[in-house]
Amino acid sequence: MESKQTSKSDIKEILQSKHSYQTEFRDAVLEVMDDVINYYDGDSSENILSFFNRLIEPDRTIKFKIEWFDDQNILQVNRGFRVQFNNSIGPYKGGIRFHPTVNESILKFLAFEQIFKNALTGFPMGGAKGGSDFNPKGKSEHEIRRFCQAFMMELYKYIGSNKDIPAGDIGVGTREIGYLYGTYLRLTDNFSGVLTGKHPNFGGSCGREEATGYGCVFFLKNALNEHQIDLTDKRVLVSGAGNVALYTVEKLLEENAKVLTVSDSKGTLYFENGITSKELDDLKELKFTHKQPLKEWKGKNGEYREDEKPWSINADIAMPCATQNEMDANDVKTLIRNGVEAICEGANMPVTGEGVEILKGNKILYLPGKAANAGGVAVSNLELSQNAVRQSSTKSEIENHLSKVMERIYRNCIDNIEKEGGQYNYKAGANLYAFKKVYKSMKDLVG
Ligand code: NDP
Repeated sequence: MESKQTSKSDIKEILQSKHSYQTEFRDAVLEVMDDVINYYDGDSSENILSFFNRLIEPDRTIKFKIEWFDDQNILQVNRGFRVQFNNSIGPYKGGIRFHPTVNESILKFLAFEQIFKNALTGFPMGGAKGGSDFNPKGKSEHEIRRFCQAFMMELYKYIGSNKDIPAGDIGVGTREIGYLYGTYLRLTDNFSGVLTGKHPNFGGSCGREEATGYGCVFFLKNALNEHQIDLTDKRVLVSGAGNVALYTVEKLLEENAKVLTVSDSKGTLYFENGITSKELDDLKELKFTHKQPLKEWKGKNGEYREDEKPWSINADIAMPCATQNEMDANDVKTLIRNGVEAICEGANMPVTGEGVEILKGNKILYLPGKAANAGGVAVSNLELSQNAVRQSSTKSEIENHLSKVMERIYRNCIDNIEKEGGQYNYKAGANLYAFKKVYKSMKDLVG
């Protein structure tokens, strides 16, 4: 039962008592709640707060054991999770992450964020996230395959093309999706679009791999255009060297921006004169084909800076595309001091809560990940539609579609808000638009 008198501190207390060790999740909820509550006042704010009590409880969290044999024939055990958070606007949808840091808090925060991201796209998709604490680094091809098979042996019981549709995330790319989908097929003989991010040979969209990175740059361009800023020749800092980062770099180069950095968990690769297209091809080979760290870079340009993040380098735009909490308050202060004009998030929640606080009232365009990186899930929705009618699209059709969806997401972000001091608060706009949609659906469905 909803309480009529729920206050903001009640929700904080609930978060503290029921989700106390889940800091990432707590931060994600409070961030959305603050934006939403600032918009409503009086009685409606009380109703909204009591609704939060409902919203912050996932529909279910599935935990399972994964047993697999390594190359020495020794049995290994990992933990698997799927958080099915909310399906009020469509089937659960969200990626799978394989990384040693995966735990329930991180997946809950990612699933919670995914509800809002998916709502922003305008497509009928609910929010979910899953994964395992399995570390793919240093594993052989056989070990990756055996692990993916063992993971799907459990997960297949809980997913379905009208129920829950997983995709990739950190540590899960086209190769892993192939093994996961292959196992699903062997278990069910059901060739439906239950996973997205598949290879185009068996139902995937060409252009899905590029979609999140390209979409980020499309979103950035919409915001820059709004403020009469041209992307040409802008100096951009990109972090990460994975799927999102390298396709962000690719689209930035097409837009004639100058990309100064990529990074990984061990350091930053700095290109004083900007990365060339040939160097980007070499980076893709190093990372995607050979799965090597950036310190193995042998190019003539590019200075490797061990244990350094990109954010202290002078630039116009910063695009964090690696992981959560990778840009802290000090990094934000440094960027502000260096006169950065925009921070556009390719990763999920890369700027810490304290960092976001510092951005408030500054002239920097802050473009939140839940809107800017929604291109991947938007193209995944197209993949699902294609699978349902046994059709495929060309790469240019997909890119055209993506560009239109990103423009729609941009418009949705400014739908409910006015400019203040000549600028939009995109984060508040994104949270509000998505919240209203989910709120109305849950009320209409359950009361
Ligand atoms: P990948 O696994 O392809 O790449 C992740 C990159 O981030 C790697 O270069 C990795 O370096 C680096 N990284 C990981 N941890 C850290 C760290 N603590 N500090 C610095 N660098 C780090 O993942 P994706 O590119 O798919 O995902 C990146 C982000 O984008 C994640 O937040 C993800 O949730 C988000 N996202 C992804 C989407 C997609 O379509 N793939 C869709 C929407 C959001 P190393 O190799 O050293 O670990």
